[in-house]
Amino acid sequence: MRVVHTVPELRQALARPPVLVPTMGALHAGHLALIDRARAAAGPEGCVAVSIFVNPIQFDRAADLEAYPRTLESDLEKCRAAGVDVVFAPAADAMYFPDRSVTVLEHSLSKTLCGATRPGHFDGVCTVVLKLFHQFRPAAAVFGEKDFQQLAIIRRMVRDLDVPVEIIAAPTVREPDGLAMSSRNVRLTPEQRADAPRIRQALVAADSIRQAQPGPTAVLERTRAAIASPLNRIDYLELVDAETLQPAPGFSRPTVLATAVFYGDVRLIDNIRL
Ligand code: AMP
Repeated sequence: MRVVHTVPELRQALARPPVLVPTMGALHAGHLALIDRARAAAGPEGCVAVSIFVNPIQFDRAADLEAYPRTLESDLEKCRAAGVDVVFAPAADAMYFPDRSVTVLEHSLSKTLCGATRPGHFDGVCTVVLKLFHQFRPAAAVFGEKDFQQLAIIRRMVRDLDVPVEIIAAPTVREPDGLAMSSRNVRLTPEQRADAPRIRQALVAADSIRQAQPGPTAVLERTRAAIASPLNRIDYLELVDAETLQPAPGFSRPTVLATAVFYGDVRLIDNIRL
């Protein structure tokens, strides 16, 4: 496995267009499932590449950026064990010029959900992902459905800007109690960690509520009550059209029920298709 830190080194390390897994590190089984999916797409002789970069411009809260776990040595071990060919782990100054002045803005899908409560977040995501696509020139890139709004926005960016890359979606990997795996989970206290599986349980229950009482209002009210606990604060719970990500008036089209929940200053997200 080659580990490189600059774009020229990366270019040299890539013998052929890779299948790319972009990450912010602190790798867990969810990331490893994306790497396995990348290997399946690349084939045994193909190239699987992982980027590890805590992208400062996608953080809307300085404290969240500062507290984000950084575990490069163990991440590299995990990548090695997973059969990754190339890891790109740049420092922030290898990614961004101090006077950088071009940003990628998405104007529709990023207006709801995480985009509404984290101003500028998806501008930072689109900008770094487009840079990674130019740096790696990947044949394909794998993204997790846990961040389903991110996935939709990246698909839209690739479509609208004619980026020659195939986007592959991978299902959410969960802890045995249903909590979606996240690099932020390690920052939960034992009490918060024990409480957090209620998020997934409430989303799963929403499916049966919908079948019994098919109005969106009942689904949202009852799910909100099921997620709420003295230990958390709901950032948003929204029912949106799976394609446009705009609020869904009903269930005639495919919908996604998505939520973000704070435990202290740790923000967790999850979603379910209804
Ligand atoms: P992150 O390092 O959190 O920015 O995530 C990097 C990639 O891993 C993104 O495409 C995420 O959607 C994906 N990912 C994060 N957590 C999970 C999970 N629990 N299951 C599947 N994919 C995930």
